Amino acid sequence: MGDLRVEVLGHASVRFDIGDKVIYVDPYSEVCSFKGMTPADLILITHNHYDHYDEKAFSEIETPDTDFIVSENVGRVDDRYTVLANDQFCTWEGIEIAAVESYNVNRRNPAGQLFHPRGVGNGYVLDFDGFKVYLAGDTEPIPEMQDLPKIDLAFLPKNLPYTMTDEEFLKAANLIKPKYLYAYHYFEIDVPKLKKELDPAIELLN
Ligand code: ZN
Ligand code: ZN
Repeated sequence: MGDLRVEVLGHASVRFDIGDKVIYVDPYSEVCSFKGMTPADLILITHNHYDHYDEKAFSEIETPDTDFIVSENVGRVDDRYTVLANDQFCTWEGIEIAAVESYNVNRRNPAGQLFHPRGVGNGYVLDFDGFKVYLAGDTEPIPEMQDLPKIDLAFLPKNLPYTMTDEEFLKAANLIKPKYLYAYHYFEIDVPKLKKELDPAIELLN
């Protein structure tokens, strides 16, 4: 497939370049100007919150040929959209894309509802010819993380009140044991502290 280039764009937005294909995950125009960036061959959406499903960002990178792979309950679905529920997968341009669980266990809004109820949003595992990338979406540590395949590069969220504390971030990292780890979707981060407490076999790239 050639070299994989990974670019972190801010919040939960990540770009992958492989061969002549460009994939954006959760492009979010509040953290990155997408104007003038390479158009998307594929846009991958983890869930329908405004910081993950952003039509303004789409308008700057989508073309009539852009494919979308999305969770259920996104705002717009046409024939370019493939909807994946948890545990479903598809193959796009030779890349196997699996939707996995991504949900809150404890974190609720003031009305008492979980910010991310189970079964709604997706995490994704992208298999680039054997190199597996995991994008967790907005989740807490969940038992399903232990069932993931061997992950080479994991993106885990680290912010309150929606996702994980530092301790939960470390717990999730230990469940997954990726070779490389990147904390995304955070407001603040203490990299030296996380590095000190992380399993030394896992390399934190922040
Ligand atoms: Zn969310
Ligand atoms: Zn979010």
